[in-house]
Amino acid sequence: MFILPQLKYEYGALEPHIDAKTMEIHHTKHHQAYIDKLNKAIEGTEWAEKPIEEILANISKLDAVIRNNAGGHWNHSFFREILSPISGKPEGELLAAIERDFGSFDDFKKKFEESALGVFGSGWVWLIVQDGKLKIIQTRLQDNPLMDDAPEKGAPILGLDVWEHAYYLKYQNKRADYISAFWNITNWQKAADLYGSR
Ligand code: MN
Repeated sequence: MFILPQLKYEYGALEPHIDAKTMEIHHTKHHQAYIDKLNKAIEGTEWAEKPIEEILANISKLDAVIRNNAGGHWNHSFFREILSPISGKPEGELLAAIERDFGSFDDFKKKFEESALGVFGSGWVWLIVQDGKLKIIQTRLQDNPLMDDAPEKGAPILGLDVWEHAYYLKYQNKRADYISAFWNITNWQKAADLYGSR
């Protein structure tokens, strides 16, 4: 049985980049709905007491309802953590890896933005570590790189939700503006911790 994780900041803390209403609906309605549907789908099965990562690692054996809602729960829990009112910049080991694998921080940002803009319909863009290298990948719907049947597997360092529900209230059809605003609220400390512990 999964429960909605608490936010570590107020709904309005990411203003003006993500508005309080979007944060509140995203957390209390969308994320809660993934959890409720996941709990219902796994109730009374062997998966009911398993960690979410174990469900994701076995997702190819499970049905679409569990796939979409287990992914939705994990992705949104991760997304909250990778956002912060205090953003900063990558440094140290993570910055060195970004420069090694993308040329420069600016080149990385450009590539990440292009990828996020290029997700057709609902999905996510990720920065992952795959075989020791950083890579930008997309996933459809609520899929993620921890799923056993993901075409691109790896350890997530950053993830950006590009479903319209993540930005439509404030940005309407202007996904590019939402994507560039992400750099003002990226939790680079968390990203560095994830990179260090991959
Ligand atoms: Mn979402």
